[in-house]
Amino acid sequence: ASWWSHVEPAAKDPILGVTEAFLADRSPHKVNVGVGAYRDDDGKPVVLDCVRKAEGKIAGNLDMEYLPMGGSIKMVEESLKLAYGKESELTKDKRVAAVQALSGTGACRLFADFQKRFLPDSQIYIPIPTWANHHNIWRDAHVPQRTFHYYHPETRGLDFAAMMDDIKNAPNGSFFLLHACAHNPTGVDPSEEQWREISYQFKVKNHFAFFDMAYQGFASGDPENDAKAIRIFLEDGHMIGCAQSFAKNMGLYGQRVGCLSVCESEMQAVAVKSQLQQIARPMYSNPPVHGALIVSIILSDPELKSLWLKEVKGMADRIIGMRTALRKNIEKLGSNLSWEHITNQIGMFCYSGLTPEQVDHLRNEFHIYMTRNGRISMAGVTTGNVGYLANAIHEVTK
Ligand code: PMP
Repeated sequence: ASWWSHVEPAAKDPILGVTEAFLADRSPHKVNVGVGAYRDDDGKPVVLDCVRKAEGKIAGNLDMEYLPMGGSIKMVEESLKLAYGKESELTKDKRVAAVQALSGTGACRLFADFQKRFLPDSQIYIPIPTWANHHNIWRDAHVPQRTFHYYHPETRGLDFAAMMDDIKNAPNGSFFLLHACAHNPTGVDPSEEQWREISYQFKVKNHFAFFDMAYQGFASGDPENDAKAIRIFLEDGHMIGCAQSFAKNMGLYGQRVGCLSVCESEMQAVAVKSQLQQIARPMYSNPPVHGALIVSIILSDPELKSLWLKEVKGMADRIIGMRTALRKNIEKLGSNLSWEHITNQIGMFCYSGLTPEQVDHLRNEFHIYMTRNGRISMAGVTTGNVGYLANAIHEVTK
């Protein structure tokens, strides 16, 4: 008898399933705007020059010893400077418990497990919509989920009033998951003024803000500017948590480099860090060394850091250029609909407002692949395919 005959196939991941279907398509016109990884204007994956140069410094010099349980101390230090600011009092005073994590996903999961272990009755408020994996992460950590309003379908922008109502109506001391910048999947972020109001209301309600920052640098092209939500919360004296990923902004997707940080008093930060390590220990013991070294070399070498800043800006600018081109091309075809949201939204994604049926239509008639929620990965749009994509979108929305 088989031991595992009762095991049913798992539901397909909505994002990874799109890539599979795209790869199986034989059409020469096919376009993949499903997956959230950066591509150059020829549709090719990119390795940044600063990464190649950092690898050059590592080559032949790296031993293969374990990192400490909390990961590379230097990488963590440099990550914190990036998120909290070089002059942050919190980091200077050692009031941030931080460990290297398995990219952004691992940082979120480590935090969710920590939340469950030390505040077992707490819940997490998650925006609707959000990156689908957020739901899986907190589900598997057994933290009950609540939702809060975020996106306004008609304006294809932020539903700020409803979001503020949900913040006010949540029980005092609730946990909220916030996207620090370049919200996935909507590309809709609060303005600086709105962030200040959110932060103020969080103070009033004594809520805890957990920032998922998977796209620092990808929204505006400048990592400092993209950290403004976090900086506002810190100025207001919040003790935040933060998940950082270097997947997108350094193009280190498969290297799995990230950082989880939680603010506390100096004494408690030591305890919190030790507990985060304790959670990691039976799962994967300690994190991988290669990607962490790449990140710490780039961020601590002034020349490589300025090269990196130039390259992040280059990626963000290409995407911003493609937003303008896509909108112009659709408008030129005489569409009666408003496409302003394509250029208003920021970061890697455009939440197009296309219906699941229209998305199916794009796939079946035009070999264009995206998730059924109408999310277009702007990173997959190129000078070569933007006209074709615009025409197809116009055809299915006429
Ligand atoms: N959070 C958000 C909002 C994301 O979009 C992503 C990547 N798609 C992640 C976290 C985590 O990505 P990674 O684990 O590759 O860093």
